Amino acid sequence: MPQKTVIVGGGAAGLGAAGGVKAADPHNEVVVYTQFEDVAYSPCGIPYVHGREIPDFESLFLASKEAYVQAGIDIHYETEVTGIDLRRKVVRVAGEGEVSYDRLIVATGFTYAHPGVPGSDLDGLYYVKNIRKAMEWDKILDSVRVAVVVEASPLGVEMVTALAHRGIETHLIDPNPWALGETADPDIVAPVEESWREMGVHLHFDTRLEGFVGEEKVTAVRTSKGELPADIAVVCTAKEANNRLAAEAGLKIGSTGGIIVDERMATSHPDVFAAGDCAELPHGVSKVPLQGLTGSHAYAQGKVAGLNAGGGSATYQPVYVPWGMAAGKWMIGGVSFGETLATALGIPYVLGSAEGISRARYYPGVKKIKVKLLAEPESLRLIGAQMVGGEGIKERADFLAMAVKVGLTLRDLATMENVYSPPIGALNEPIALAAQNGLAAAKGS
Ligand SMILES: Cc1cc2nc3c(=O)[nH]c(=O)nc-3n(C[C@H](O)[C@H](O)[C@H](O)COP(=O)(O)OP(=O)(O)OC[C@H]3O[C@@H](n4cnc5c(N)ncnc54)[C@H](O)[C@@H]3O)c2cc1C
Repeated sequence: MPQKTVIVGGGAAGLGAAGGVKAADPHNEVVVYTQFEDVAYSPCGIPYVHGREIPDFESLFLASKEAYVQAGIDIHYETEVTGIDLRRKVVRVAGEGEVSYDRLIVATGFTYAHPGVPGSDLDGLYYVKNIRKAMEWDKILDSVRVAVVVEASPLGVEMVTALAHRGIETHLIDPNPWALGETADPDIVAPVEESWREMGVHLHFDTRLEGFVGEEKVTAVRTSKGELPADIAVVCTAKEANNRLAAEAGLKIGSTGGIIVDERMATSHPDVFAAGDCAELPHGVSKVPLQGLTGSHAYAQGKVAGLNAGGGSATYQPVYVPWGMAAGKWMIGGVSFGETLATALGIPYVLGSAEGISRARYYPGVKKIKVKLLAEPESLRLIGAQMVGGEGIKERADFLAMAVKVGLTLRDLATMENVYSPPIGALNEPIALAAQNGLAAAKGS
């Protein structure tokens, strides 16, 4: 029988969920609430419009508002849900009062961690998220001479590269000794940092944020190593689960701050599901819960939550987290762990590392690719990888995530078949070379 599903959130998870509910039964009623003016745009593209690689913000919109009306999805824009009453199965909506539901999907996403320093309420602090705000900031960027990016998180890495492309004097401050300090190994980001320096970026590692300085608007950023004059600060702190509504309603929250869900994306309360950056999911290898993954994870989780809420049946698998990005003049990426994270988690590993090339060595445009593979010492089963190169990183990260998931070993990868075609692939696949070196290291140990 058709049901009414209320979805709180119009991001990747919320819209994936809306589609899932309708896919389960087109007669289901779907109501989506979002605080923003728009849905169905790609926030992921914002740094590249700022960097002028993408010409305009309009290209980032994926579907029109009319398309959702046609699909029977009732979206309430700029509308805040202020509370959830699980017992009475109603949400409280600003300007609408109480709205009942048969099923509820919480897809409230993430917020950037509050910087927690004096001056955090000054104007001139840019949190990159809402596309309308990004459009306003893009005009401001025209007159910005100096920008300080706070933290070398994935977004921080993208924004540093974008601002440098745009010709803005860019400073990066981060408390770790290297960029992406909690995700990437230092040898993987070293070429990126070198290319940033070539682009004129000023890197300040081992440097803590101590405050934002200014009267009404920021004029400088105070750090543990001194003050940096700044026209704006781009705050790229860690993504935290936006769990306030869920926690206040009494849904179980996990150790990461994410809402606890099972493989159906069902929460601790019947009839309530959660998806995206507000939820936490186990890592496939370590079983450690993770929160704040990516837009593609959020969308896929939303789909599963929506299918189940709508009366269908679907499960979401533990995650192995392939990742990748353009950074400086390089591409970097990986899956699960590098050496830094594996060591921090106390996970033993055998390492196979190699430098290969992306095309035939004589073909114009050939680029270096460095691959590091981490495997369990006894079984030699792949548990993680990290890469840096000029091209071909995304495809390798996706492939290696599947290799971890299905349990391939260094032996399998050392003898893998590969495409050899001068413009697109070299005779020796860098992954196979790294696996062969890993086998040799395992024998020698
Ligand atoms: C600048 C930027 C770059 C990114 N780059 C990438 C990338 O390259 N690759 C990638 O995979 N992902 C990328 N992402 C995606 C991102 O990191 C998240 O993983 C993704 O946005 C999570 O989607 P979500 O739907 O869970 O949450 P969000 O996108 O955070 O959406 C949350 C939604 O909930 C709504 N909401 C929250 N509280 C309420 C309330 N009380 N009432 C009503 N509505 C509410 C908000 O209005 C919003 O619509 C990027 C994001 C940004 C901002």
